[in-house]
Amino acid sequence: MKKIQMVDLKSQYDHIKDTVNASIQEVLDNTAYINGPQVHSFQKSLEQYLDVKHVIPCANGTDALQIAMMGLGLKPGDEVITADFTFAATVEVIALLQLTPVLVDVDADTYNISIEAIKKAITPKTKAIVPVHLFGQAANMEEILALAAEHNLYVIEDNAQAIGADYTFADGTKKKAGVMGHVASTSFFPSKNLGCYGDGGAIFTNDDDLAHTLRGIVNHGMYVRYHHDVVGVNSRLDSIQAAVLNAKLPFLDQYNVARQEAAAKYSAALANHKNIITPIITGTQDSHVFHQYVLRVIDADRNALMQHLLDNGVPCAIYYPIPLHSQKAYTDSRYNEADFPVTNRLVNEVLALPMHTELDDEQIAFITGKILEFLK
Ligand SMILES: *Cc1c(COP(=O)(O)O)cnc(C)c1O
Repeated sequence: MKKIQMVDLKSQYDHIKDTVNASIQEVLDNTAYINGPQVHSFQKSLEQYLDVKHVIPCANGTDALQIAMMGLGLKPGDEVITADFTFAATVEVIALLQLTPVLVDVDADTYNISIEAIKKAITPKTKAIVPVHLFGQAANMEEILALAAEHNLYVIEDNAQAIGADYTFADGTKKKAGVMGHVASTSFFPSKNLGCYGDGGAIFTNDDDLAHTLRGIVNHGMYVRYHHDVVGVNSRLDSIQAAVLNAKLPFLDQYNVARQEAAAKYSAALANHKNIITPIITGTQDSHVFHQYVLRVIDADRNALMQHLLDNGVPCAIYYPIPLHSQKAYTDSRYNEADFPVTNRLVNEVLALPMHTELDDEQIAFITGKILEFLK
């Protein structure tokens, strides 16, 4: 059996080596390492893929979130609601911009931000909601967009984990994750569903004026060369990373299908076990692109199961082990433990299994076999 890895980027590269190498070679030959033609062509291809008017490439997914918030003109003291159960980047940029993060609980079924919790957290100071499409599953955008419209709030989608997911609205309209709110961010970190070979990110929006503002912010606040109209940052996707992404974007749908198929096999093998809750897809099947396959271990020793898997050569991980409201950097006297029952429980129950585009049936059978052997 091939060695099991949490993410197997080498096997994926082996399949597309010639295409990727040729794409990188073009950059080396023309030496336009910054803002080369590859960056522009990737931007255009991604706009077409997502069906969005503007993609603004930048240096990473954290910058993308920060720049999106800067572009919306949010001011210190403005409250921004986001999920307690996510990667820290989301709350980090809110705090960095001196906005007030308002962490709220999530849904046990989807791990995504809870609509009821958002409703309770909205105040006259609330200016934006940041849903994170966690582990690859689109958040409940129908309800989030309705709440935002009702209270005049911006919606900033953190789409670092769900690029390519399709969300279906009640009226049957389908949209890609990341093009439903006012603005969205994504990350091309190597292990993400569309990963480059270093750091990369992008911002998406359908708003022409906002896109113009964002293009200036990523480039030192310059709209005319050497005229700095606003305080900006330096955040670029370099040409070599764009070249890798140009080579990989045509495979994104097929990669997401491979993840969905692996997830379906895990779930079939682990279905109806008294100690396991397999991932629940609440919308259409295509609304989840399985950036991670995260199950919940119920009434059993999650940490001992994890150790059993590691001892048997099965990598696994806990995303995320500590609620953001309990992190030293983000604790706040406004928070009350009773407001986070789901996150507080999930951190003790979740377990992420290996998930990538190259998992084979033998590996999946081995992994699920080891889980069932431990839980009996
Ligand atoms: C990966 C990730 C980010 C940050 O992306 P980087 O490119 O590493 O800066 C932000 N939010 C979420 C939910 C992520 O998973």
